[in-house]
Amino acid sequence: GQGAAVVTAVALRLAAQRHEVDQLLAPLQLSRADLERVQALMRREMELGLGLESHANASVRMLPTYVRGTPDGTERGEFLALDLGGTNFRVLVVRVAQDGIRMASEIYVIPTAVMQGTGEALFNHIIECIMDFQLKQNLLEQVLPLGFTFSFPCQQLGLDKAVLLSWTKGFSASGCVGQDVVQLLREAAQRKQHLGLKVVAVVNDTVGTMMSCGYDDPKCEIGLIVGTGTNACYMEEMRNVGTVEGEQGRMCINMEWGAFGDNGCLDDFFTDFDRLVDEKTINAGKQRFEKLISGMYLGEIVRHILLALVEKQLLFRGKPCPKLQTRDIFQTKFLSTIEIDGLALQQVRAILQDLELQASFEDSLLVQKVCQTVSLRAAQLCAAGLAAVVEKMRENRGLAQLAVTVGVDGTLYKMHPRFSQHLQQMLRDLAPNCTVTFLQSEDGSGKGAALVAAVACRGAELSF
Ligand code: BGC
Ligand code: MG
Repeated sequence: GQGAAVVTAVALRLAAQRHEVDQLLAPLQLSRADLERVQALMRREMELGLGLESHANASVRMLPTYVRGTPDGTERGEFLALDLGGTNFRVLVVRVAQDGIRMASEIYVIPTAVMQGTGEALFNHIIECIMDFQLKQNLLEQVLPLGFTFSFPCQQLGLDKAVLLSWTKGFSASGCVGQDVVQLLREAAQRKQHLGLKVVAVVNDTVGTMMSCGYDDPKCEIGLIVGTGTNACYMEEMRNVGTVEGEQGRMCINMEWGAFGDNGCLDDFFTDFDRLVDEKTINAGKQRFEKLISGMYLGEIVRHILLALVEKQLLFRGKPCPKLQTRDIFQTKFLSTIEIDGLALQQVRAILQDLELQASFEDSLLVQKVCQTVSLRAAQLCAAGLAAVVEKMRENRGLAQLAVTVGVDGTLYKMHPRFSQHLQQMLRDLAPNCTVTFLQSEDGSGKGAALVAAVACRGAELSF
């Protein structure tokens, strides 16, 4: 009768909607073959980045760090450390002693206006924070060697000389690109009449993370960050590093893999949503791999997908959602919460409610599915990148089987309920001849900077 006809009509409409949703999400779902291609492309870009002749044309910069080995436990001393470029700016004091590492730290806010103002104002601010910290910790009378974790791409000319190549992650302070950041810090110290600053080392956060985990596990020869941004470093054979003299031993290479694809090699994988996200950033066209993976961007990708679903009348009954038009309104931390295992749909609804989105249960399920799709893709792409790294290390060493540890840090990796599981699973799949252990770093950036500073202070001898 009529009732049955209505039921059939509803069922047909639902099936049609489901089909439309699947079509919309399909470009975000990567096949095994896709990921193998990403892995192969990453490997190619790595080789290009390492080669003296080719590195200018590589999207993965493969920057030498002048760190020649991981810690051996004999590092000692007391250091200041700065950690700039992650979720928080921090100043730390780190004591490396026989019985371990102890530290104290403070978090300071860097207002967006300072991140995107002049370089002078940014570095003045940093010095003011250091002075505040030294006052609070009663350290104003001492000149402690300082290790600077500076989480941006730098051309290092030595452990204590690092020329900024480009800003990333929402920083754009003027007058810094092309300058040695240690010099910028020293000049700011002079302006502020702070005479007790002795910068001895600049390290990328990936390197700090690898070093701090390497202090506990000698197998740790890779550093990975999946936080506001993403990047990796690893120990490469000197003979393969065409951009630095010398053939003996190894050097840690800061890959700067966030820029992978900036030369167009990943264009097939970008979706309309990725393009929309990229266009609205202050570094459009740059850090394209990072914009598929890291915490600063995943929420934005989700937001654009939700907008498309609303437009197609597949979500929120097609009702316009003004709040959803606001950039960065859908923070990546919502993704982490929405994907918590066994979270009641009621709770998803409550989160959406906070964004002034009136979600039905069906809507909540769909939002959850969108979040899962976006974070799964991020984890799998990250796995493809890492697979290229571990396979290269295995081949470098002529091993049939490689056992290696990855020191890892970053808010997304640590907070997201599934990211690490998906990453590890996909990596096992893509690099079956490597046994990879993941070690979460605690305060890696600070500890790592201190460990590198300790070696720098030991003398000109840079290998551990
Ligand atoms: C930077 C890297 C950094 C990574 C993680 C990227 O945007 O270019 O230097 O390691 O973020 O913080
Ligand atoms: Mg950090």
